[in-house]
Order: sequence, then structure tokens, then C-alpha cells
Amino acid sequence: MNKIYEDYYRMDKLPTIWCPGCGNGIVLNGFIEAFKNSGLDRKNTVIVSGIGCSSRSALYLDFDTIHTTHGRAIAFATGIKQSRPELNVVVLTGDGDCSAIGGNHLIHAARRNIDLTVICYNNSTYGMTNGQYSPTTPTGSITATSMYGFMESPFDLCKLVEAAGATYVARTTTYLAKMIPILVKNALLKKGFSFVDVIAQCPTYFGRRNKMSAPADMMKWIRDNSVNKKQAESMSEQELAGKFVVGEFVNREKPELTAEYTKLIERLKEKAGADLAKV
Ligand code: SF4
Repeated sequence: MNKIYEDYYRMDKLPTIWCPGCGNGIVLNGFIEAFKNSGLDRKNTVIVSGIGCSSRSALYLDFDTIHTTHGRAIAFATGIKQSRPELNVVVLTGDGDCSAIGGNHLIHAARRNIDLTVICYNNSTYGMTNGQYSPTTPTGSITATSMYGFMESPFDLCKLVEAAGATYVARTTTYLAKMIPILVKNALLKKGFSFVDVIAQCPTYFGRRNKMSAPADMMKWIRDNSVNKKQAESMSEQELAGKFVVGEFVNREKPELTAEYTKLIERLKEKAGADLAKV
């Protein structure tokens, strides 16, 4: 294994439980490369994950990590950041974990603009529990709970967190693996709520049911259905249906929650000191 990865993995926890050809390893290696390039201190960084195949990532990383309950990774991360604002807090999560049971935590963390970096391994399914549909499953897909084709419309998680108030929002795919460290590094260094959506493959459950059981077939499907942000601007809503728009969508400045909270505490301390002086 490449030395850069060896330094960041708990080698005694390998091999991973992930199926051959799963996209999770590509996302996790992308995160490691981004973290190394960011210059951030591992000793001041906490990795938080929820439940699901991708959330096993926290177990494999040689950081301070916390593997929490289903859907609550962002809630735990919020508590860590509020109590220790000086820490870098990163959430590694899946589409089911962060946008179904954890959907409200996602929306409100973006609205509050708390300084978290959330990386979503978005494989459109609940891989760990045999492939039920998730909020990002493409319409028409066959899953364990939509044997005749998924009838609903999927969430566009980037649009969702942008509308909720996130300061950094971007999407890439495991096919465009070289973009992962670039976008994740930007997200890590951004002060505020940052979200990177990485479209990934689950060949075992999603792929197998949708005539793409070979990992390479899933990668081709991701490649053929990806359009960059520039191309997407000239496409109609109908043309964009079922496509993964990739690129950086939001990079803006806004007051960050824990910094504002710290300022409030300082103001109240000063006021209390002034009031005491009057007594
Ligand atoms: Fe990856 Fe799917 Fe296997 Fe889970 S079930 S490890 S998401 S390929």
C-alpha cells in the first residue's frame, strides 16, 4: 500500500469489510489525500460517522474517531464542535445515513452554518442492509424495496444544503477520483458548513439489480451520466433528469456559528465585568 495511506489507516483493522469493487475505498483514499494536502493537524481533528457501509470508514482511520448511531453523525459532530470549537470536525456518512434518518440534522447544520466538513458517500442505496432505496436513488431503479422500479424523485443533496445555507458545496464521483482530494481539501479549509457529495458505486446491491453487477459497469454508468456544471447550464430540466452534475457549486462567506457564539460569550463576560464594577 502507498505510504501516504499507510500513515493514516489503522493497519490492524484492515482489510475492510467492503465488497471488491465498492466505491467506499476510493472516497476514503480521496479524503486521506485531501487531509494530508490540507496541512491540518491530525491531533486537532475528529472523524465522526454514523451507520452503514461507508460509515465503517471511521473505524479504519488512525485519527480520533467516533462511530455513532444511525443518522446521528451530524448531531454528534455538532456537539463536539460546539464544545471544542478549535477542533476540525469531519463527518463521513452515506446517503441513507445523512439524508433519510439524519436528514433534519443535515438541513439544520447547514442552516446554522456550523464549521463541519461533511463527505457523503452517495451510492443511492442502503448497502449494509441489502439494498433498499434511499432518498438519492434514481427514479426507475430496481432495489430491494422497489422491485418494479423506484417511483419517487431523488434528492439533489447539493441543492438541498445550498438552499439550507451551506458555505461550501461540491460534487464529484468515484470515476472522477482525482477531483475528490481537491474538493475535499477546499471543504476542509473552509470556515463554515461544507458538503462534498461523492457519487459512488455499490455493485453488490445497486449494481446487481440494475444490470451492472461488475464494478466497471457501474463506473461506466457513473461516467456516462455525469455532466459538469458548465454543460449543465445549457441543459433543460428534462435533459438533466438522472444526471449527476459535478463541480463546485457554492463557496461563500457567512458568519460561522461557533465563532459567533464565542463572540457572544466574550460580550457577556465583558458586560458582567462592567456590571460587577458598578456594585
Ligand atoms: Fe460497498 Fe455495496 Fe458492498 Fe456495502 S454492500 S460494501 S456499499 S458494494
